[in-house]
Amino acid sequence: MSVLVYVEQVEGKFKKSVFEAVSYAKAIADQQGTSLSAVSIGNVADSELNELGKYGASKVLKVEADQLKNFVNQAYAAVIAEAAKKEGANIVVLSNSFSGKGLAPRVAVKLEAGLIDGAVDLPTGDFSVKKTAFSGKAFAITTLTSANKVIALNPNAFGVKENHTNITIEAFSPEVKSSDLAAIVKEIVRATNKVSLPDAEIVVSGGRGLKGPENWGMVEELADLLGAATACSKPVSDADWRPHSEHVGQTGIAISPNLYIAIGISGAIQHLAGVSSSKVIVVINKDAEAPFFKVADYGIVGDAFEVVPKIIAALKAH
Ligand code: FAD
Repeated sequence: MSVLVYVEQVEGKFKKSVFEAVSYAKAIADQQGTSLSAVSIGNVADSELNELGKYGASKVLKVEADQLKNFVNQAYAAVIAEAAKKEGANIVVLSNSFSGKGLAPRVAVKLEAGLIDGAVDLPTGDFSVKKTAFSGKAFAITTLTSANKVIALNPNAFGVKENHTNITIEAFSPEVKSSDLAAIVKEIVRATNKVSLPDAEIVVSGGRGLKGPENWGMVEELADLLGAATACSKPVSDADWRPHSEHVGQTGIAISPNLYIAIGISGAIQHLAGVSSSKVIVVINKDAEAPFFKVADYGIVGDAFEVVPKIIAALKAH
């Protein structure tokens, strides 16, 4: 019995959410009195794989094959399940990222495992885990009674915890069925160099109060100064002011950054569903009665076109 964590790479590098997943998996391994292995798929340098030892992984299975160079849901799930079998792991941890959301249920089916997605805390004694439910509007405590368990951890929920461990790297070449490679991603073209929204620690978000796409310059400038990702409300992406990939909420992405700055967004329940687990919420709205103020940690009642340039000027002055 051991714990396995899948470490998702992007262009050969691990993001913070991976180190969070490793830290979380290590804490579970310690609870269970067992060791932690990781599985990495795709081309990752050994120096990057060694980083996983900082957070408690004692072994990493390195899977490198041409047909697995780019992410393929079905094939990656098969590899993770084979890695779990090889390591005798009955608990598999992944990050609940875009790809993690697709992988976790597939891995669970392959291992006949119970699944918890959107976990935000460690399991308690009877393996009950707190997780987000109803599009982030509530928390649920779910108990896994199955022998095998798959847990997808929400980004920014657990934090990164250093736990230096000697790590060994082992090549692993499981057989992948051709049916798992029916669809192959040939090339991934990066659309932007900006901070990725699901992993961002700070998010600057705009709503219909910003009047039109021509006014997003100040949102982007503020985001750049803070090292933040940009997001928006649904009507904004519906109107093509911003790309749909930035739409947060019940029908968009659910995020939980350390700081969420909402500019000209009313705070409708469907929007809050995707952002209410942010650690600190700052609302800028000219209507003091806007519902968003009820969940805000800090609020500025004022015209965004006056307030935001002043914040930008103050940040530049520092
Ligand atoms: P508005 O509601 O128009 O609010 C604009 C705000 O800007 C107002 O509060 C106003 O006071 C303020 N404002 C105006 N001018 C200024 C200014 N100069 N300075 C400062 N403040 C200003 N919405 C989402 O966002 N995400 C979702 O995932 C989502 N899913 C949905 C699913 C369903 C099934 C349904 C029915 C709706 C969904 N919606 C979603 C839509 C949601 O109900 C709201 O209509 C939407 O969130 C409102 O967007 P908004 O706050 O940008 O716009």
